[in-house]
Amino acid sequence: MESPVNASERESVIPVGGTGAVAASSLTPQQREGLGRVVREALAGLQLMAAWGCRGFDADPALTDRLAALARMTAAVEERSRPPAPSLRAAPALPAAPPSTIAAGPGCLPPWKSESLDLIRRELGDCRRCGLCENRGNLLFAAGSPRPRLLFVADGPEEGDDAAGRLFSGEAGALLSRMIRAMNLPLDHTAVCTVIKCRPPGSPPPGKDELAACRPFLFRQIAAMAPDFICALGTTAARTLLDTDQGIAGLRGRLQHWEGRIGLMPVYHPAYLLRKPSAKKTAWQDLKLVMAAMGRPVR
Ligand code: SF4
Repeated sequence: MESPVNASERESVIPVGGTGAVAASSLTPQQREGLGRVVREALAGLQLMAAWGCRGFDADPALTDRLAALARMTAAVEERSRPPAPSLRAAPALPAAPPSTIAAGPGCLPPWKSESLDLIRRELGDCRRCGLCENRGNLLFAAGSPRPRLLFVADGPEEGDDAAGRLFSGEAGALLSRMIRAMNLPLDHTAVCTVIKCRPPGSPPPGKDELAACRPFLFRQIAAMAPDFICALGTTAARTLLDTDQGIAGLRGRLQHWEGRIGLMPVYHPAYLLRKPSAKKTAWQDLKLVMAAMGRPVR
């Protein structure tokens, strides 16, 4: 059988520490895949920690170089062994997927996993496609794992995120972290992104034009990230993803689909739960439905 490792990779050497090294060719493809998965998850975890407020810790800089070398070499192997089509890893509770409900516009519905997140971010660039670019401090693309099992989609950055330079930087983010922990889901299996990517200080909720300008990038992000499930946080996110005029109160409580491909649960936004703590119980019921559909134990 032809080796999945090309010539240059066969000659590469994985640095394993201060005492020695392991030739890449001495590992089986399964070992390389496993190693790659560990490294990728570790890196995603570090990215998530940074995005959610960890300011840093002491570490040997050489460790970062070794992790990057491992990730580069194993990413190529993983990419070749990845199946061409996605599958929901566990969705026993989902009803049959309805036909697509999203009104397609040019560039709105990309082929599955057709492009990388890097490419999408590069295309956004220093985006001036809507008025929210004025007085924007930071364009906030996403945070968390690039290949999450569960993706949280909110309407836009929270107040204060623009200045902080990261999504969910405040109390709503802290509550979201607690919700994820309560789901017994590793943080590095999750990610957050928003319909609109910019929120200048003091800006009102996004209007139709702004949502329409940014929506294609959200859809491409989701296709590239290929999560197993999405939680749409709040009315605007749920409406955008489900192409409906219904509010979150009418949409929550039942699993739906995005594009007939990904399980989607509308859930109250953590900022709303901070304003109305009595709704937390309802939100938890919805998250438990997600956990069950993901095949995770439900307490
Ligand atoms: S909100 Fe979206 S479309 Fe508008 S400027 Fe920011 S990135 Fe561009």
